[in-house]
Amino acid sequence: MPSDFIREMVAADVASGRFGRTIATRFPPEPNGFLHLGHAKSICLNFGIAREYAGRCNLRFDDTNPATEDVRYVEAITRDVEWLGFRWDEERYASDYFAQLYAIAESLVERDRAYVDTQNEEQIREGRGTVTTPGVASPDRSRAPADNLALLRRMKAGEFPDGAMVLRAKIDLAHPNMIMRDPILLRIRHAHHYRQGDAWCLYPLYDFAHGLSDAIEGITHSLCTLEFKDNREIYDWLVREAGFERPPEQTEFARLQLDYTVLSKRKLLRLVNDGHVSGWDDPRMPTIAGIRRRGVTPEGVRDFAETIGVARKDARAELALFEHTVRNDLNMRVPRVLCVVNPLKVVLTNYPESQVEEIEASYYPHDVPLTGSRMVPFSRELWIDRDDFMEDPPKKFFRLAPGREVRLRYGYFIRCQEVVKNAAGEVVELRCTYDPTTRGGNAPDGRKVQGTIHWVSAAHARDAELRLYDRLFTVADPDDLPEGTDFTSVLNPASLTVVHAAKIEPSVTADAPGTRYQFERTGYFMSDPVDSTAERLVFNRTVTLRDSWEKVKDK
Ligand code: ATP
Ligand code: MG
Repeated sequence: MPSDFIREMVAADVASGRFGRTIATRFPPEPNGFLHLGHAKSICLNFGIAREYAGRCNLRFDDTNPATEDVRYVEAITRDVEWLGFRWDEERYASDYFAQLYAIAESLVERDRAYVDTQNEEQIREGRGTVTTPGVASPDRSRAPADNLALLRRMKAGEFPDGAMVLRAKIDLAHPNMIMRDPILLRIRHAHHYRQGDAWCLYPLYDFAHGLSDAIEGITHSLCTLEFKDNREIYDWLVREAGFERPPEQTEFARLQLDYTVLSKRKLLRLVNDGHVSGWDDPRMPTIAGIRRRGVTPEGVRDFAETIGVARKDARAELALFEHTVRNDLNMRVPRVLCVVNPLKVVLTNYPESQVEEIEASYYPHDVPLTGSRMVPFSRELWIDRDDFMEDPPKKFFRLAPGREVRLRYGYFIRCQEVVKNAAGEVVELRCTYDPTTRGGNAPDGRKVQGTIHWVSAAHARDAELRLYDRLFTVADPDDLPEGTDFTSVLNPASLTVVHAAKIEPSVTADAPGTRYQFERTGYFMSDPVDSTAERLVFNRTVTLRDSWEKVKDK
């Protein structure tokens, strides 16, 4: 079971019975975009704690801003949370609490804890003062509660235009925490809400909606990211003023930040809207939908969340660590198949012209606790990878070269006898001989070869499109750029390379789109769930085989 400062706190609260009710958490996304890996961290934490401490966890849509929210995001979010392997106890919507919040607003006004302010936005901002100087009271601050109540009711009735006035808490204009200097609770917005329609023209601000939504749901532990630390005071003030018994407690943890990407819905939305990616589910996106389409498993994401853990201080996670986790997960679960990325023809001159052998090839190496195999056809003409041949190899090159012998994976030893070139001097074919006594990969005379390469039978191979993904940005921290530099200017122009005619063994045509593989010696791939068909095979590279994390870690 994972352990961190939040779980320690929850365990202590369970032991002391502090809340007098079941432990309850919530995951509160705003439906204004797709979920990303940062949200996955929060999901694993909130749902994980509920699971581990026999509590409950709600999925609550924090949908208090009519301008940016949409039901299509609600659908994407529920799909992604389920895909990650979590079920919520209740699905809630902050906008369903508008009536309750409004009633609380009236009660605050009646008790002279809130007032209607007719100042404009700028006047309110100026009236707040600065960290070193106290604010000045609005002329409206001393209005009698009964008059404020009448105004608030007229606001709700839709009598005033947007921006004409706001409801503010009446706290302390000299408070050391700027947020406590009479924060705005309600504002007027004559806008259509995707869920509430035109029922409301008063919309709560985050601070007013969030803590009270938690309290209404009986949440005990309200976990959020560090940037809300200063909001904790208004959270506590509001739940206390609203009269909740044993109200929820907010605790902040570090936001996940991942190298070479951005984890902010606003920025991800820009990438989608400006066409830098094909959509929210572009496999280069750090969204749940993107990494799912890329081939990452829910277990891989959960392993990553557990590996990075939950801390009090912000820290960036290295991309190499994410890839390392994904690779370890895929290694244990996906079949190995043969695919040649950059094909070079090999003709086995001593292999009978019309002969085809079916070779049994295991899907899994010995250290993976899964079994299974398929038959791969072998014939006189094969494809091998261009990278596995060098005409003039350096010393440490253990693959094919003129006169050299290598092992074909699951097959025979072959020796390169002749290099065929075209008029431009490019190598177009290798003429080799095979040793019929080495079927299965060993020579009866004990002769050794230094390299084993992968291959496919040319007559049986299928063409495949490979989408090779690389990091989305060229710099490790695209959120930290010099003044005036837009983050889209550091996008990696080579984040996607398409290989149009790779050659893959025919067995994969039997698999459904969305099947994951390791292409031996090449990387982990998944057939694209959207674009791949039996006629047109398309594979997304999830991650390469090269693991740089071990090196990074030891630095
Ligand atoms: P963004 O900046 O991407 O819009 P947000 O915080 O505004 O993120 P919400 O939908 O409001 O997005 O977030 C829902 C929950 O997910 C919140 O509790 C928030 O703290 C958490 N969360 C968002 N981003 C991260 C992150 N990078 N790491 C951990 N938790 C996150
Ligand atoms: Mg937000």
